[in-house]
Amino acid sequence: CGIVGYIGAKQAQNILLEGLSKLEYRGYDSAGLAVYNGETISVNKAQGRLSNLEEKLAVRSLPGVLGIGHTRWATHGKPSDENAHPHVDSTGRFAVVHNGIIENYIQLKEELMAKGHTFQSETDTEVVAKLIGDLWNGDLVSTVQATVSRLEGAFALGVISENEPDKLVAVRYASPLVVGIGRGENFIASDIPAILKHTREVYILEDGEMAVLTKDQVKLMKVDGTPVEREPMHVSWDI
Ligand code: GLU
Repeated sequence: CGIVGYIGAKQAQNILLEGLSKLEYRGYDSAGLAVYNGETISVNKAQGRLSNLEEKLAVRSLPGVLGIGHTRWATHGKPSDENAHPHVDSTGRFAVVHNGIIENYIQLKEELMAKGHTFQSETDTEVVAKLIGDLWNGDLVSTVQATVSRLEGAFALGVISENEPDKLVAVRYASPLVVGIGRGENFIASDIPAILKHTREVYILEDGEMAVLTKDQVKLMKVDGTPVEREPMHVSWDI
């Protein structure tokens, strides 16, 4: 229920953890991070409060400058390590965090299982990760667009991939999501307080919009690819 994401030059882990701590009110069934370390995406996640994840990260930290994080409010599948986000595709090359509900996940899961994908969790979210891997066409943005066109329900998504580690992709469909604009770094989050320490320039995504972040640029578009032009909003309030 709380999403954060970072792309830039700093170590992502602590920025993500700090962001999640501001979102913990949105759910604390579990917490997790996926960080790209220059070669592969590593995931660390834990049932329960953020402090449980912090204990695990103290033993096995996740170095890297691109990552996504999540605190969960379980809707499909009990609170557990396995059901914690991020979820990955069958190759482990794509990681996804999700806020909301995928209404047609059973149908998608059956379809993907028939194609040989196996599932590690009971969540609706894992179908999104598996579907991205299944639909991978050599281009992350159009693969995410193709994936989203198959989804019904409410979702905010954050996606990273080993195949295009210079990008962080975010999608909003009836669940909140903001993009924070930094210098040489950019952010996503469910809510402004999670990123306010780093920037006051934000885009509030609207339903059916997606954002493609690199460390130096943020591009907004509709999920069908139509570009969206608008000025960022300046946040003048403090937490
Ligand atoms: N439906 C997803 C799950 O139960 C996401 C829940 C959330 O928004 O935290 O894992």
